[in-house]
Amino acid sequence: MTTGDLPSHGWTVVLRRQPVRMVEGQPEGGYTDLFEIICCDCGDDPDLDYHDVSPELQRIRGPYPIAAGVAAYKKHVTQHPQTTHATSAETATEVIAR
Ligand SMILES: [Zn+2]
Repeated sequence: MTTGDLPSHGWTVVLRRQPVRMVEGQPEGGYTDLFEIICCDCGDDPDLDYHDVSPELQRIRGPYPIAAGVAAYKKHVTQHPQTTHATSAETATEVIAR
């Protein structure tokens, strides 16, 4: 039996407010007005700065204004039918608010 590489935070894809910078896994300099999609199933890591991930992951991340971000998030999660993810915009917003 293996637990694989499941993230300990209990989700694999999330829409969050984009930090200005991620430094050693911590947001630094506050947050932008935009939102980004972090998808662990696609190989992304929430601790990495936008500029430190691959161009493919940057394309997934966006960033998006909130309305477009929610739409893109909902569309993206349908690509991972087995994924543990927030199933509604409300839940996604709760994740953002934490
Ligand atoms: Zn994905």
